[in-house]
Amino acid sequence: MKTESQILNETVIKNGYCIGCGACAAKKDSPFEMKMDKYGNFVAESSVVNLSSNTTKVLNTCPFSNTSKNETELAKEFFPEIKKTDHKIGRFAKNFAGYVKENDFRKRGSSGGVAKWIGYQLLKNKEIDYFVQLIPNQSKDSSELLFDYGFFSDPEDVLKGSKSSYYPVTLVDVINKIANEEARYAITGVPCFIKTLRLIASEDKLLKERIKFTLGIVCGGMKSANHAKMIGWELGVNPENLISIDFRRKYKDRPASQKIYQVWSNNDAVERYRNAGEIFGTDYGSGLFKPKACDYCDDVVGELADVSIGDAWLRDYRNDPEGTSLIIVRNKKILTLLENASKEDRVKLTEITEIEAGDSQAGGFRHRRQGLSYRLKKRQENGEWAPKKRVKPGEFNIPTKRQKIYDLREQLATDSHIFFHEALMKNDLKIFKSKIGVLMNKYYKANLPPVHKRIMNKAERVLKKLKLK
Ligand SMILES: Cc1cc2nc3c(=O)[nH]c(=O)nc-3n(C[C@H](O)[C@H](O)[C@H](O)COP(=O)(O)OP(=O)(O)OC[C@H]3O[C@@H](n4cnc5c(N)ncnc54)[C@H](O)[C@@H]3O)c2cc1C
Ligand code: SF4
Ligand code: SF4
Repeated sequence: MKTESQILNETVIKNGYCIGCGACAAKKDSPFEMKMDKYGNFVAESSVVNLSSNTTKVLNTCPFSNTSKNETELAKEFFPEIKKTDHKIGRFAKNFAGYVKENDFRKRGSSGGVAKWIGYQLLKNKEIDYFVQLIPNQSKDSSELLFDYGFFSDPEDVLKGSKSSYYPVTLVDVINKIANEEARYAITGVPCFIKTLRLIASEDKLLKERIKFTLGIVCGGMKSANHAKMIGWELGVNPENLISIDFRRKYKDRPASQKIYQVWSNNDAVERYRNAGEIFGTDYGSGLFKPKACDYCDDVVGELADVSIGDAWLRDYRNDPEGTSLIIVRNKKILTLLENASKEDRVKLTEITEIEAGDSQAGGFRHRRQGLSYRLKKRQENGEWAPKKRVKPGEFNIPTKRQKIYDLREQLATDSHIFFHEALMKNDLKIFKSKIGVLMNKYYKANLPPVHKRIMNKAERVLKKLKLK
């Protein structure tokens, strides 16, 4: 019979579904360790040639194994008191759109500054000993990772944490520290990382006791470390000199929905920032630099987090340059914290329905529910292994045009890793742009509305102009 390590290796890892969470590597006597691969993704790698003699149990805690519990089962286990549920956002107590009014949280946050503020409040109120969040690279050494998890015990330091980090990290050191130091922790993480923490807590009482709060960061897909290098390169920083990136610089007269990237070099002090729309390859929906696992993940908002925080991409909020957070609450203490602060005018909250919360992530749900069912069906038809999801293969009827878009997105993700690596090796960004450009053009064409619709749209625009005159 095969060992769990063998099965994990032959299914999740070898087929490219490892998201790099580090749960398997954190196990005692694990044969796995976390490595960043040449494409800039964290993946588990076996340090042992023969896995057949290793008895470490690794399947129940891998978010992509076919043995671990799914999000719906875990939500029932961790939120038994919450009865309200929705097919998109999972269990919820209340949902809000909002932002922080006190201190610099909103100004220095990705959207409304709510995630870091919750960490700050939990530390201040002595609910936790450590707020575990990401921290940007502080050194001038460009060989260092640009982001990593850090432990914060002083509330006044919380603002040093990162904004949205579209950059790979791993939980392995976090899990080890929690196991080794008795303390109360709150941790931020993308949905699959929160799932990992719940899977571990589900079988380890000690960790369950110590992890007091989880803050889920709504996720439309991760990016490889090479994605940051591409942005830097386009803004004039050679990958060898890139030491820092801000994926969510704010600007007073631009809508929050327009991402602005800023990069720093260890070679000069030039201020470099630009709109996503003006940087080749930053169209998020096209899927460039996305790990394969993200196309096989059906939890968009972080259904297992005590509170999920994202961008309130809704008509009333998306144009506000200062940013507004989507907040989905599943924990009483966090709800009280937010509602009290709202009464004291320290936080602005507007309650929204679960439908609005789901609608704020419409594109993400389309890609990760309808799109996922299509991708799973393809894997099934090709006789390939794929993780079992709550979405079933072929569950949705997908028009041919849409199928083509999903096919191209997958190909763009895979090829972008390969072409950018080639560009890095030859120190020539043009190689990447020209090779991936061919596919991008196909993708844009596939997204165009049908000819008759384009003619109608144009006629409508002309008519509108004439009426205005
Ligand atoms: C890869 C990725 C994809 C995303 N996709 C979407 C999306 O499709 N739709 C959407 O609405 N929102 C998405 N977000 C979330 C959004 O960008 C903001 O992070 C969210 O709105 C919180 O903003 P805030 O101002 O309230 O948080 P802030 O006050 O800015 O705090 C953010 C907190 O999250 C932590 N953090 C940031 N990145 C990570 C990470 N990768 N892993 C663990 N912790 C992290 C920071 O350290 C900090 O504590 C994504 C974020 C990431 C990292
Ligand atoms: S997803 Fe996590 S647990 Fe699964 S193989 Fe990768 S690192 Fe290990
Ligand atoms: S899309 Fe899913 S698998 Fe990918 S980083 Fe986000 S939560 Fe994890």
